[in-house]
Amino acid sequence: CGIVGYVGPASPSARPLEVVLEGLARLEYRGYDSAGVALVTGEGLVVRKRAGKLANLLGALEAAPLPPATAAIGHTRWATHGAPTDTNAHPHTSTDGRLAVIHNGIIENYAALRRPLAEAGVPFTSQTDTEVVAHLLAAAHERTGDLTAAMREVAAMLEGAFTLLAVHAAAPGTVVAARRNSPLVVGLGEGENFLGSDVAAFVSHTSSALELGQDEVVTVTADSVRVTRFDGTPVEPRPFTVTWDASA
Ligand code: GLU
Repeated sequence: CGIVGYVGPASPSARPLEVVLEGLARLEYRGYDSAGVALVTGEGLVVRKRAGKLANLLGALEAAPLPPATAAIGHTRWATHGAPTDTNAHPHTSTDGRLAVIHNGIIENYAALRRPLAEAGVPFTSQTDTEVVAHLLAAAHERTGDLTAAMREVAAMLEGAFTLLAVHAAAPGTVVAARRNSPLVVGLGEGENFLGSDVAAFVSHTSSALELGQDEVVTVTADSVRVTRFDGTPVEPRPFTVTWDASA
């Protein structure tokens, strides 16, 4: 339902969790039933997610504070496949716990993609259409060693509507995203960059933005944004200025 991503400097003053939680709060108007975050920290990938209001997630984060991070992704869920439970909340993770993905929309062919993986012994822990994407991305990353290449390959296999954001413990300063039939915007900062399902996710930080086109993948670091199509063809980004009063 609502999506936020952030990549910032590798300094102790970086506050990716705060940026993402603020973005999620600004996306609350869309409605949601669960919320969660994933951070790439010096100690690996960390995920916290809870059914219910953002306050439940904030409570879980306060009870067990997280180590500093350079990249973070956050999601508010409006359940379409699987009840609104802690387990079905996003992010969804690979079996080794090193990759996390969040998703807006519906993967129409998730059952067909899931069957061979389940038969091969991949343990599925949720009832969502999204979890299969985590396992497919992990397998593609294992093979290619590259999260962007993995995202291109997997996104091309998916039918339906999706905005996807993924992070991997092996790529601590990177968020990779893809979209089809569902919106995705990138916010351009100075030494930091943002992603969102709409500009509300980052409007208090920057008014300089890029809109992703249909079937595009974007790789975002603290100081670079690279856009390609699912087949790898480079895309000239479409910049725009957000005309929205963030104080409103
Ligand atoms: N289809 C996914 C789910 O049910 C994502 C729903 C959303 O857009 O929040 O988990």
